[in-house]
Amino acid sequence: MTDLLYMQDFDIEACEAKVLSFSLIEDGRTDIILDQTCFYARGGGQDWDRGVISGPEAVSSVEEVHLDEEGQVHHVGRLTSGSFSEGDGVVCEADHERRSINTRLHSAAHVIDMAVDSLGLDWIGTKGQHYPHLSAVEYSGTWEFEKAEELRTELEALTNAFIEKGSSNSIRFMSVEEMQTVCRHVPDNIPENKPGRVVLYGDNFGIPCGGTHVRDISQVGVTSIPKIKEKKGTIRVSYTVEGIASAT
Ligand SMILES: [Zn+2]
Repeated sequence: MTDLLYMQDFDIEACEAKVLSFSLIEDGRTDIILDQTCFYARGGGQDWDRGVISGPEAVSSVEEVHLDEEGQVHHVGRLTSGSFSEGDGVVCEADHERRSINTRLHSAAHVIDMAVDSLGLDWIGTKGQHYPHLSAVEYSGTWEFEKAEELRTELEALTNAFIEKGSSNSIRFMSVEEMQTVCRHVPDNIPENKPGRVVLYGDNFGIPCGGTHVRDISQVGVTSIPKIKEKKGTIRVSYTVEGIASAT
C-alpha cells in the first residue's frame, strides 16, 4: 500500500519518496507507484492533484492520480526527460493552486453539512461532487417543495455565517463505534477492520472523511447556494465558492 501522507497532515504538498514501479502505459503515458505520496487521488468527490515527480535521471508530469483496490496510488503522467528505475529516490510536488481550490471546495461541503445540522433538518449526506465546474452535496431526507426557496436562503446565510466566524479542525483516527459518538452519520461502507479517519470540528461535529481540508473554515471564502432541488428522493444542494471559476 502507498503511504498517503495527506491522511496525517492536510498541508503536505511535497515529499520525498521511493519508486516501487515504473511502467509505460497507453498513449505514451507513464504510471509511477511510490512507497509514499503527497498527491491526492480522486475520491470522495474531490479531484486528484496534479504536479511533478523528479528523480535523479528523469522528470515526469503527474496528470491523473488513482488509488487502486490494493491501496496503491498510480501517478499517471508523461516523461519530460529521462526515465525512472525501481528504487530511485524522487521528489514529489503537487500543484498548490489546484490543491487549494479542491480543498476549499471540499471544505465548503462540510460547512453546508454543519448548516444542515444546525437547521435541525433530518437530511443524511449521501454523496458529494467538489469540482470547480460542478459542486454539489446530496442528501436523503424530508423535502418540502413549498419551502425550497426559504430553505435555500437560510442554508446559504447560515453557511456563510459559519465561514465568517471560522472554526479549526483536527484529525482523529477511531473505530466505527467511536465514530457513532461524534459523527452525525457514519456510512455503512466504512471498513471496520482498521481505525478510520474523522475530521473533527469543535468537539462533537465529526465527519468520516479522507479528503483534504482548510485549516480553518474561514479560508473557504464566501459560498453561494444557487439552487436546491429534489429528484427521486435525492435532495441536491448546488454551491459555488467566490473566486473559483464555475460553469454554472
Ligand atoms: Zn472532508
